[in-house]
Amino acid sequence: MKDKKPKQKIPQNGLKALALMALIGAIFMGISQGGTLGNITNATVQEVSISELQQLYRDGQLKSLEIKDNSLTASDGEKTKYETTKEPNANIADLGFNDPTIATNVKIIDTSGTKTLINVLMSIVPFLLLVGIILFMSRRAMGQMGGGGEGPFSFGRTKARLFDASKKRTKFTDVAGATEAKEEVQEVVDFLKNPDKYAKMGAKIPKGILMIGSPGTGKTLMARAIAGEANVPFYSVSGSEFVEMFVGVGASRVRDLFKQAKKSAPSIIFIDEIDAIGKQRGQGTGGGHDEREQTLNQILTEMDGFEPGQTVIVIAATNRPDVLDKALLRPGRFDRRVHIDLPDMSARAEILTLHGKNKQLGDDINMKEIASKTVGFAGAELENVLNEAAIMAVKQRAKKISQEDLNQAVEKVAMGAEKKSRKISDKERKIVAYHEVGHAIAGHFTETGDPVHKITVIPRGGALGVTWFLPEEDTYLKSSQRLKDEMVSLHGGRVAENLIFGEMTTGASNDLERITAIAKGMVMTYGMGGDELGPVVFKKAQKDYGVIHVDQNEFSQDTARLIDEQVRSLINEAETRCREILERHLPLLHKISLDLLEKENMYREEFLAYFDPSEQLVYL
Ligand code: ADP
Ligand code: MG
Ligand code: ZN
Repeated sequence: MKDKKPKQKIPQNGLKALALMALIGAIFMGISQGGTLGNITNATVQEVSISELQQLYRDGQLKSLEIKDNSLTASDGEKTKYETTKEPNANIADLGFNDPTIATNVKIIDTSGTKTLINVLMSIVPFLLLVGIILFMSRRAMGQMGGGGEGPFSFGRTKARLFDASKKRTKFTDVAGATEAKEEVQEVVDFLKNPDKYAKMGAKIPKGILMIGSPGTGKTLMARAIAGEANVPFYSVSGSEFVEMFVGVGASRVRDLFKQAKKSAPSIIFIDEIDAIGKQRGQGTGGGHDEREQTLNQILTEMDGFEPGQTVIVIAATNRPDVLDKALLRPGRFDRRVHIDLPDMSARAEILTLHGKNKQLGDDINMKEIASKTVGFAGAELENVLNEAAIMAVKQRAKKISQEDLNQAVEKVAMGAEKKSRKISDKERKIVAYHEVGHAIAGHFTETGDPVHKITVIPRGGALGVTWFLPEEDTYLKSSQRLKDEMVSLHGGRVAENLIFGEMTTGASNDLERITAIAKGMVMTYGMGGDELGPVVFKKAQKDYGVIHVDQNEFSQDTARLIDEQVRSLINEAETRCREILERHLPLLHKISLDLLEKENMYREEFLAYFDPSEQLVYL
């Protein structure tokens, strides 16, 4: 390329942007100079396992240790370098490499995590900018030649992705379970395939369909399957993409999106996470508020403006239908709703079987058993179970995935990965054991509580120990007794700590949050707050659809005080019941906790063996 600059007049803002890019590029290049590491020595490199490296570390044989992403490079300061890899989630503390009790002076360089990201960014950004500048120049030049270049600053254009029609498309057979939802959307496929049939009869084709369901239940998948079955173009955007910095950009993007979709009608526009833009107006907090409103208005305008014969169906997905603006739900807009529920037992087995098709499954696989252990899992989590199991099989160098792999994978997905190498003092382990067994015993002696499935004192995910209650079947309603019983078993951890050690730890904070949420739900949402408050709803139900959002209080100070009192009394009542149970069964609490400390894991049968089955359980 010649270094002759194009002679055309670059518009003002173009020049500014160019200068800005150059400036940023220069800054980043400056920074990244300091960020490079590199010392090349000619030591011999030895591949070791992570446990061998830990042993070398403990033996004081290492002088330096560098962690970069998942690879560890250590050196003995002389001739040998050791290399190994670690699990993606384990950090140095997990691996026991900065143990203060070991008197070594190993130099640890940890460039994993965010630091590496910054490093990578710093090395890439200047090049990207350079490429950007070149592109900018050449597009400008092309524009002058009549090529109609658009430049890289076309903010207002839609980011919608059109699915490649030549690729294999998603079909209903790719969606397992969800029988009712599939039946409902079957109709939509027919609208798209034969719009004339409906037009002749004078029937109006719905413009908008709102798909409602917990995260991972297959809303996006279903929308794709509709487009695939009808064989029409599918434009997909996410609501969160619209929430950007500049006011007006979102609206023009919407206009562009609808223009494209109309051009290729019949077609489907899919707006994922519509709650990001479709929140009730006047409820926004902070920036991006105006922007959201304008975007929302533009969507409504476009939907109203469909001309007859233009079959564009807008499908939106959300897990927060309660926060959506009413204007979105009016007739002629998203007036059709399809609920996608969490899969029940047979649907779970179907989803597992479907995703198991492309995996090497052993002969002992029983998907029904896995389905029975995964109450409450969404499709995405079930898919994840199979994937984790496959990874485990690879790690064990097995030829096929075994049932045991699947069982382990269910635990990993439900409770997080085991962190065996995390160092915990004996005192803390003991507290954790009593805490977990406290949950288990308290739950065991409640009438409606789910059976204990597993208790562990091996840290998992973010927790030091876990008690896993597993329902025996899918349930859809909870009685007030059930909610009270849940609070009793949630109190178990903290009460046990208090009974045995006479103090409380911070380990119970999550339990307390959940207890409070249950009590508030009972009083404010489900009308279970006693006669004085009556069956009045003070806050809308959140169901399983995500985080609690706090409504503006619409009740008097007196009512607020009553609510507070009721909430507190429910919580206290549950705590008292829990304390009575644990005091009555103190010898068992000791025995099971000490056994658990030894075993680390305890399964249902082992736990139940402590109780005499012939003895009638006395519920408090
Ligand atoms: P959502 O949009 O509801 O959050 P997705 O459609 O993105 O969920 O689902 C994520 C993944 O989970 C899908 O790509 C699919 O692999 C799997 N999945 C979810 N539900 C099902 C189902 N009913 N059948 C088969 N796979 C499913
Ligand atoms: Mg989705
Ligand atoms: Zn707890």
